[in-house]
Amino acid sequence: MAPANKGADPDQGGEKSQNGASGEAQGARFPVARHDHAACVSDALAHSDALCRERSLRLTPNRRQVLEALVADHKPLSAYDIADRIDWQGRRGGPVQVYRALRFFEDLGLVHRIESLNAFVACSHYEEDHGAQFLVCTDCGRVAEASDRGVKREIGKLARQAGFEVHDPVIEIRGLCPDCGGTR
Ligand SMILES: [Zn+2]
Ligand SMILES: [Zn+2]
Ligand SMILES: [Zn+2]
Repeated sequence: MAPANKGADPDQGGEKSQNGASGEAQGARFPVARHDHAACVSDALAHSDALCRERSLRLTPNRRQVLEALVADHKPLSAYDIADRIDWQGRRGGPVQVYRALRFFEDLGLVHRIESLNAFVACSHYEEDHGAQFLVCTDCGRVAEASDRGVKREIGKLARQAGFEVHDPVIEIRGLCPDCGGTR
């Protein structure tokens, strides 16, 4: 008997969503207005389910709801925004619980902090150990994540020349997305 589909297959459903779950799509893309966003959400949840199971970690209701709130749209959200969007259903919940959950997902590489916005965004590249570059639209606030190996390599080169040890290779690039005056 084939086991029930528990959403553990990372190759499933990657094409339909904006999250680019397929392996080699490393470029940054802003989500187009009409896309199968339900697939984005289910991809993200399936991926975190699989990762938690693989590492024997628990996707508690709080954690799950934080991730759901974060992937509900493609904009980075602050912990306060996220806390506001969650129906805590009688559980004790607020920014503290949200921060705790966000840290959990950050450690797993499923959530990134956008320092310049003091906000968080769900990862849209499901491969391990990626150096991320974020294109941040200063108009609509959306963010597109890229994971370009060439950029990562150049950062490594720069750092080596300076005798510098890189701890966080994340780059945030500000500008306008295609919907706000960038080019298509
Ligand atoms: Zn989407
Ligand atoms: Zn990422
Ligand atoms: Zn924009």
